[in-house]
Amino acid sequence: MNQRISLLKSFIKINLENLSGNVFKVNLAVTYKCNYKCRICNIWRLYLDEPDKAGCELDLDEIKIIFQRYNKQLIWVSLTGGEPFLRHDLTEIVGAIYENCKNLGIINIPTNGSLPNRIEKTILEIIEDFKIPLIYVTVSLDGDPARHDFMRGFNGAWARALDSLSRLHQISANYPNLSIDFEYTISPLNVGGLSPLLAEIDRYGLSNLKGVIVPAHTGNLYHNIQMQAYMSNSDRYIPTALKEIDYLIKVAPPSISDPHSIIRYLYLKLLRKYLSGATRKFFPCTAASGSCFIDPYGKVYPCIIENKVLADLRELEYDLNRAVKSNKFISFREKVEKGLCRGCWSPCEAYPSIIVHPTLSLYKSLT
Ligand code: SF4
Ligand code: SF4
Repeated sequence: MNQRISLLKSFIKINLENLSGNVFKVNLAVTYKCNYKCRICNIWRLYLDEPDKAGCELDLDEIKIIFQRYNKQLIWVSLTGGEPFLRHDLTEIVGAIYENCKNLGIINIPTNGSLPNRIEKTILEIIEDFKIPLIYVTVSLDGDPARHDFMRGFNGAWARALDSLSRLHQISANYPNLSIDFEYTISPLNVGGLSPLLAEIDRYGLSNLKGVIVPAHTGNLYHNIQMQAYMSNSDRYIPTALKEIDYLIKVAPPSISDPHSIIRYLYLKLLRKYLSGATRKFFPCTAASGSCFIDPYGKVYPCIIENKVLADLRELEYDLNRAVKSNKFISFREKVEKGLCRGCWSPCEAYPSIIVHPTLSLYKSLT
């Protein structure tokens, strides 16, 4: 089926589920294992500090039960990490979601691109085994090769990411339900790296990729709350970041025939506003209402940023229905509705927020 029609269908379903007060998107960290040592994220330190915790992650059977018990409302599942492709059973995890969630429209998987062979094999398996309307894979790229390797703390990270991206690009030529892109995470450490990055991917024949800019956040998922002051402490950061956002909007403008390009455009315009100093109250967030975050141990959070455990699925027989109906969940939802959270513009919640508020997004992007 045409990818654009699938997307539109998913957006309509998302709005219907949102109107019914259902969680329609789950961000599930399938592992906190990571093979890189990024400068702006501390996930990789977790199992160095506490190696035994790696054995406490949800296993495949537990993940299956979660999606057997909460499914028909789910339109969108994001499988994050850590590095999600370090899970050898990632295909089976996607299978469990696909088999149970009859309204599933989108699976998205962000990756550091470190495992080209495994990424290629897994994505081919997922595409061929399951008829998911849209599989969206993003590969992180933080600048030119030297800058990327520095940011990722791994020599050769750039070459691996480009290898992964090139293989995914080839697969996507044959499978229209696979959409790929690169994700450029900006922070004071690498801002200004967009132009060299675009020049490099052009050399690899990947210039048709549009790219998404993600501002580095401090937050629960990244285990980097202590970096808060440092992240925003740069005079050069914001002006340069705004120029890069403007450039990306200019080189890949939205097209009325491509719903994804419109969402991306609105996301970038509102990112501009957020980085220019608007508080998160400038836009309603779907966290703890339409979406939530589940960590690798089954703990439920409102989003990837707020360090607030709302429920433990292992204590609730893996039933997300019970979690989202709990008093903790409902009272956090009210907090978010009043704009009383830490505030962020993370795509994990920004994209669904835009989808459920299209008119407001357009208005806010223009004012
Ligand atoms: S940003 Fe991604 S690749 Fe880097 S340490 Fe965190 S989880 Fe690993
Ligand atoms: S705006 Fe608030 S609730 Fe929404 S994702 Fe960011 S921190 Fe979480």
